[in-house]
Amino acid sequence: MEAAETDRAGAYEVVVVGGGAAGLSAALVLGRARRRTLVVDAGEPRNAPSAHLQGFLSRDGMPPAELLAVGREEIARYGVELVRDRAVDAVRDAGGEFDVTLAAGRTVHARHLVVATGLEDELPKVVGLAGRFGRDVLHCPYCHGWEVRDQAFGVLATTALSVHQALMVTQWSKDVTLFLHEVDEAELSDDDLRRLAAAGVAVVPGRVTEVVVEDDRLTGVRLADGTAHAREALFV
Ligand SMILES: Cc1cc2nc3c(=O)[nH]c(=O)nc-3n(C[C@H](O)[C@H](O)[C@H](O)COP(=O)(O)OP(=O)(O)OC[C@H]3O[C@@H](n4cnc5c(N)ncnc54)[C@H](O)[C@@H]3O)c2cc1C
Repeated sequence: MEAAETDRAGAYEVVVVGGGAAGLSAALVLGRARRRTLVVDAGEPRNAPSAHLQGFLSRDGMPPAELLAVGREEIARYGVELVRDRAVDAVRDAGGEFDVTLAAGRTVHARHLVVATGLEDELPKVVGLAGRFGRDVLHCPYCHGWEVRDQAFGVLATTALSVHQALMVTQWSKDVTLFLHEVDEAELSDDDLRRLAAAGVAVVPGRVTEVVVEDDRLTGVRLADGTAHAREALFV
């Protein structure tokens, strides 16, 4: 990137890439510290599929988009700018400062860069699963467990560590089935099998190929051998 194309006249002390909870929190403190700050946010937070966020003191049950809208209002009070765009490149110049290129073509200059881009969930490739994520296909019992308590749970094993996930979710329901899916039964130790049995977790070998949905609700999973198992929530 040519330095001449960079918007140095409007240089920032800090560019924060990512305007989720982390980036906005950083921007709020920077704004209050009178740092000239720009937030660049692509607007795709990780928890977007969820209707409500839980377990966040004073905001329990709030829609995730609402939390971020309040955060954006708060940073604006301190003069922090926000642009809806994606940073596609960041290059450190000879002076140790940054030229950040945005997808729309603009390049902004900053003395410091905060990377708060979050992460993306890699979901198991099972037909229909991605569309249920954050609703009744769940990854975090601390976020969603209360809402599905005492329902019929499935846990989709992707590694032998999924045994621990299955044991953990028995805190929220005693009706738990571990679908071995990508895990060979031989990978489970005698100790794993003993602990699963003691916790009342059923173990079903075989690959899950599809989640079954009726009336916009998860009702089960189907295995490669065609058998269907009724379940109301699936942990991945
Ligand atoms: C389905 C689901 C439900 C959840 N529920 C809860 C809950 O109930 N309670 C709880 O405490 N936690 C919950 N979490 C976890 C919570 O979502 C994360 O901890 C939180 O979103 C992390 O915030 P973050 O700012 O690091 O990342 P994110 O919220 O993912 O924000 C990152 C932002 O950066 C942007 N971005 C990424 N790359 C670029 C780029 N190159 N340029 C510009 N912008 C970029 C993204 O578009 C996004 O807006 C849940 C997670 C999921 C997946």
